[in-house]
Amino acid sequence: MTDFDKIIIADLDVKRMQMSHAASKGLHRSMFGQFRQILTYKADWYGKEIILADKHYPSTQRCSACGHIKTGDDKITLAGNAKHGTRHHEYICYECGFVGDRDENAVANLLTLLN
Ligand SMILES: [Zn+2]
Repeated sequence: MTDFDKIIIADLDVKRMQMSHAASKGLHRSMFGQFRQILTYKADWYGKEIILADKHYPSTQRCSACGHIKTGDDKITLAGNAKHGTRHHEYICYECGFVGDRDENAVANLLTLLN
């Protein structure tokens, strides 16, 4: 972790770590809370900066290419998008035509928080 000056964590990661079983939700949420505490402590120790992305920051819905943010029926859900037939791991921008990996698009959006 000494290779990084800044660490971004987002609450959306909780969703990614969730298993489909509803009962595991609480467990995963608390594990993530613990992870965040440890990470914050370690970052302090190494003099690094932690940036916690607001959970309302639309990193999943935002197009990293043009900045368009999906709303309403165009929104991506954990199952993809029913209206457009998008699969859960895809990000397709209906504004500029950008096609990418859903997670990579979200990470690219989080990285823009650094600037
Ligand atoms: Zn776009």
